[in-house]
Amino acid sequence: MRILVTGGAGFIGSHLADKFLAEGHEVAVLDNFSTGFRRHVPPAARLYEGDLRDTAFLRRVFEDFKPEAVDHHAAQIDVRKSLEDPASDAQTNVIGSIALILAAVRGGVRKFVYASTGGAIYGEPNYLPADEAHPVRPECAYGISKHTVEHYLELYRVLEGLQYVVLRYSNVYGPRQNPHGEAGVNAIFIGRMLEGKAPTIYGDGEQLRDYIHVGDVARANLLALRHDRCEIYNIGCGIGTSVNEIVRLLSRIMNFRELPIYAPARMGELQKIYLDARKAKRELGWMPAMDFETGLRETVNWFRQARAAEPV
Ligand code: NAD
Repeated sequence: MRILVTGGAGFIGSHLADKFLAEGHEVAVLDNFSTGFRRHVPPAARLYEGDLRDTAFLRRVFEDFKPEAVDHHAAQIDVRKSLEDPASDAQTNVIGSIALILAAVRGGVRKFVYASTGGAIYGEPNYLPADEAHPVRPECAYGISKHTVEHYLELYRVLEGLQYVVLRYSNVYGPRQNPHGEAGVNAIFIGRMLEGKAPTIYGDGEQLRDYIHVGDVARANLLALRHDRCEIYNIGCGIGTSVNEIVRLLSRIMNFRELPIYAPARMGELQKIYLDARKAKRELGWMPAMDFETGLRETVNWFRQARAAEPV
């Protein structure tokens, strides 16, 4: 299959590109390198450098590559930026996604997979783990923009027969995550600890999150591409891990002795969220395979090697 991966120079998208190529698919990456890296794009993938919001560029990409499937991961992912400048967040995440959906419909794309979020749309949950039927109550502009696109996908299924799958991820971690970003507490902590600096914990560190390894996420995307129903699936491990627990695990793995620094809680941060992904198990045949401690060890090793090769 010819698969266009948007955001394929980014953390998750580049793992998808690797996975699809390994499965024998033809892959093209579309990215504007706003947060992605050229070195993460696999050499075997075709590269289209440009912006999602540029409709003339999208037309050229679709005419040239003629994708049979689109796996949409390009986005503005910074929650804080989304609150500072919600219009710009919506420009990329909503307007850019609409342009891509329309290009896919016009191009006769057979399957559209969309990376949504389970961590930022349910709000402070009524019950845990939160399943797909949990009320949607985003508490940040990023959550609103990511969720809005789900409605457009359903609209174009009804209007044009677009076949889509929405994957609502929990907190994804693993090799290639940006340690200098706002998102990805594991990468940020590992980055600091490798520099010999104590990690900073905002609040009491008892906030619970669901951490899913990027390899498991890549597998979910592969299954979604083959899936024959238009559905929404949570993709998470269903377990809440506290920030304090992450620091304890990393300190052990990295033999790091300094204690974390505690800073005031950040406004608007959820106290607890973890996802019920049993629907993905039943219907997609997906289950997480990587346990958190093994995944963290692998991630630490990757960051060590990457630091030795070049600064990340
Ligand atoms: P990332 O920032 O590493 O990747 C995003 C990629 O999109 C980057 O390569 C960036 O250069 C590209 N991009 C951004 N704006 C673009 C534009 N206008 N045109 C073209 N390319 C553009 O982030 P990630 O963590 O890999 O996230 C990938 C997707 O997964 C996003 O859609 C995000 O909302 C979703 N997601 C991520 C997580 C997580 O924990 N990382 C959780 C839930 C959902």
